Amino acid sequence: MEDSELRDMMVRTQLIPRGIRDKRVLFAMGKVPRHLFVDEPIRHRAYDDCALSIGDGQTISQPYMVAVMTELLELKGDERALEIGTGSGYQTAVLAGLAKEVYTVERHGSLSMQAMKTLDRAGYGNIHFRVGDGTLGWPEESPFQAIIITAGAPEIPKPLIEQLDEGGIIVIPVGDRFGQRLLKAKKLNGELQGEYHTPCTFVPLLGKYGWTDESP
Ligand code: SAH
Repeated sequence: MEDSELRDMMVRTQLIPRGIRDKRVLFAMGKVPRHLFVDEPIRHRAYDDCALSIGDGQTISQPYMVAVMTELLELKGDERALEIGTGSGYQTAVLAGLAKEVYTVERHGSLSMQAMKTLDRAGYGNIHFRVGDGTLGWPEESPFQAIIITAGAPEIPKPLIEQLDEGGIIVIPVGDRFGQRLLKAKKLNGELQGEYHTPCTFVPLLGKYGWTDESP
């Protein structure tokens, strides 16, 4: 089967039946070539209904989880979006098609470099990369109208709350190191108003305002 057919099938069998409704999200996920974001030996599994290994002990998230998180961000197209946890760059690509500018931070230099190469080759011109501790955010480029964290956190890192614009939305898996729930919070009159969504399991957000390597 062609990659484009596999993508159509992914949208029809994994996303729509599970309740993803935002047409722009469905369109973006029907377009982004997910197979380019995984290594050759597992490329045939790129559109499977699961997370896959991308090296350095990290994973490319399950397509459904990417869709849910993106839909919760309610992107309209004029946002400056911050992503913590570039990983393969797949979620970054989906965001880049739906927001104006994407700022993405990854703590592993090797993953960031690989993602940059893939996204450059795919022709994206609105993505900015940084290697470092994303729990500190990217203060020089703030405020952001959308912030997404693609690693599991004990709570929302304080710097990210500060860097979220008034009316902006942050989506983050919050819980313990082995299981979380997606938290969506909106900044209204300087205060965060949050609601919990689907349970999920992400690799840990390691850093100053995340888990430390020594955390239980
Ligand atoms: N969205 C990515 C998910 C990658 S997994 C994808 O679909 O491919 C989560 C990523 O978060 C990992 O690459 C991990 O290295 C990164 N990460 C964990 N803690 C981080 C931190 N404090 N700052 C930046 N990246 C972090």
